[in-house]
Amino acid sequence: MAYPVTADFHTHTDSSPDSQAPVEAMCRAAVDRGLTALAITDHVEMVSFLDDGYDRLSARSYRKAVEAQQRFQGKLRIAAGVELGEPIYNMEETRRLLSTHPYDFILGSMHSLGDGQDFYFYDYSKADIPSVLDAYFQGVLELVRWGGFHSLAHLTYPLRYMPPERRPETLTPWQEVIDEIFTLMAGKGLALEINTSGLRGPIGMTSPDLTLIRRFRELGGENITLGSDAHRPEDVGAGLETAASLAIEAGFRYCCLYFEGKPERVRLV
Ligand SMILES: [Zn+2]
Ligand SMILES: [Zn+2]
Repeated sequence: MAYPVTADFHTHTDSSPDSQAPVEAMCRAAVDRGLTALAITDHVEMVSFLDDGYDRLSARSYRKAVEAQQRFQGKLRIAAGVELGEPIYNMEETRRLLSTHPYDFILGSMHSLGDGQDFYFYDYSKADIPSVLDAYFQGVLELVRWGGFHSLAHLTYPLRYMPPERRPETLTPWQEVIDEIFTLMAGKGLALEINTSGLRGPIGMTSPDLTLIRRFRELGGENITLGSDAHRPEDVGAGLETAASLAIEAGFRYCCLYFEGKPERVRLV
């Protein structure tokens, strides 16, 4: 029998440029939904760290998460986390950020390539999709080679925004690089995130989907995290039961929470 999921390990607040949700509202929503743990993982896009003011936003996010930890003590365990975008393109600021904020939890993301243009903003009617995905997965491979994070966020991120008629039906052409990514992750003990935001959008599936979650397990992956990627209180905890059932189907028996950078295993079955 499956246990209910009581932790959401990917959420944003108004310290992310694309969210207006106060930390307090996200934490209250978590408590109301019966969660016992929540990771605040605001965006810090390293490719445009100084230009776009992420130095200021990251300090604000961290301070507010730590304040919330105290306010919600005994009701909700809050991980002061970060969603670190494209650290490989700005290692100097990445090292500085991580040495000045002792994060509980770090998600590693690739939202863009070195040009800083988020996949969200691509014109997919014109883009050469196979080349976009080639470059994307090479970027993820580089991110994993560096490995200075806990969980790899939304592995199939660019697919989220492609119109259905342009989206590849299968990722088989990229299986070799994905296998290399998974093998490296398994060896380093890095977690794979099952991100549920696609369940609320037109793509209608988690990132990654069951096929890839299963492949990660086959290649020795042991750790997964579950996250809604909520940017507003009403999405906190959304889809986590679906993510957990996919994880169980793929052969995982527990998911991970991270506090003070250390994994805690929580049973799924
Ligand atoms: Zn993201
Ligand atoms: Zn996110």
